[in-house]
Amino acid sequence: MSLPPLVEPAAELTREEVNRYSRHLIIPDVGMAGQKRLKNAKVLCVGAGGLGSPALMYLAAAGVGTLGIIDFDVVDESNLQRQVIHRQSSLGKPKAESAADTVREINPLINVVVHNVALDRDNVMEIFSGYDLIVDGTDNFATRYMVNDAAVLLGKPYVWGSIYRFDGQASVFWAEHGPCYRCLYPEPPPPGMVPSCAEGGVLGVLCASIGSIQVNEAIKVITGIGEPLVGRLMIYDALEMTYRSVKVRKDPECALCGKNPTITELLPDYQAFCGTLSDEASEAVKDSTISVHDLKAMQDRGEDIFLVDVREPNEHEIVSIPGATLIPKGEFLDGSALEKLPQDKKIVLHCKSGARSAEALAVVKKAGFSDAVHVGGGILAWINQIDPSLPTY
Ligand code: ZN
Repeated sequence: MSLPPLVEPAAELTREEVNRYSRHLIIPDVGMAGQKRLKNAKVLCVGAGGLGSPALMYLAAAGVGTLGIIDFDVVDESNLQRQVIHRQSSLGKPKAESAADTVREINPLINVVVHNVALDRDNVMEIFSGYDLIVDGTDNFATRYMVNDAAVLLGKPYVWGSIYRFDGQASVFWAEHGPCYRCLYPEPPPPGMVPSCAEGGVLGVLCASIGSIQVNEAIKVITGIGEPLVGRLMIYDALEMTYRSVKVRKDPECALCGKNPTITELLPDYQAFCGTLSDEASEAVKDSTISVHDLKAMQDRGEDIFLVDVREPNEHEIVSIPGATLIPKGEFLDGSALEKLPQDKKIVLHCKSGARSAEALAVVKKAGFSDAVHVGGGILAWINQIDPSLPTY
């Protein structure tokens, strides 16, 4: 299915622009008309992280006339393995500004707009309305659903991408011509079921594979060439080195873009909709959460506790809290961890930041360890507040 161009062409290209974009101009399908459409295009990239990095750099180089960057985070050392738009010298800087600096170096002829804010339901409609197309480089379900909903309500196409370890996916969601993200995934996965890249890791170069597909699709939609990924989901496996695409259909019953939509405005609370903890875990952590200072004090007093690290073995190998025994969360969920727990000691669970240990705590309490607790903030809080000499990840 080919679609008409999204953007009208700019009046003209300057001599400088003709020189810069000459390798585009001599492709018959792009030509002067296509490059003028790119010049007139306003594209917003949500997130200047793993996917946003290659996306922004190639969108800028391609001559997209107005490039918006939205991110509220600052550059951290653990970003540099894949977020190639940021440099060693940008550590601690707001990501949106660091990304804008790089983009201006790549192409001074384009207009860069920095949104150094967190996207939320109060600003998303206003911010999106200033752009023709959105590139979604978000890494969490709450923002992903909000991006989808706002794009559908505003009638704008967006290019979606997702990455995890060696696997990537991409699609173009444009409710006027095909399905939206909710047609594919009406509900977010249960909390704790799908690990994030921060929990599960991601091969750095995977970002380039998926980010470049997103830019490719953005250029096609803007200029109206080729067959955009509307109604198709591209699935990339970097270990097998396979790309395959599956058809995704518009769901006539979609709550957002179907015949009788029940969602006619943004949800009041996307965090609650996507949930960070299951109901059981939220219940379990009430009155059963200790701080890293509490844990340190227990250890210093020589209390008889059984400290369990519920992270994965490779995380435990990177850094661990002294005295912790490794029993990954999966063993709690399948029940096999329970026989490893002593009956005569207080069980203290921890993970990286406190989400996985909360899920494990729910299992442990249900099994009758009523005085079990988990450590709020996990090992990241331990490193921050107790022992900053430890490596972080
Ligand atoms: Zn839909």
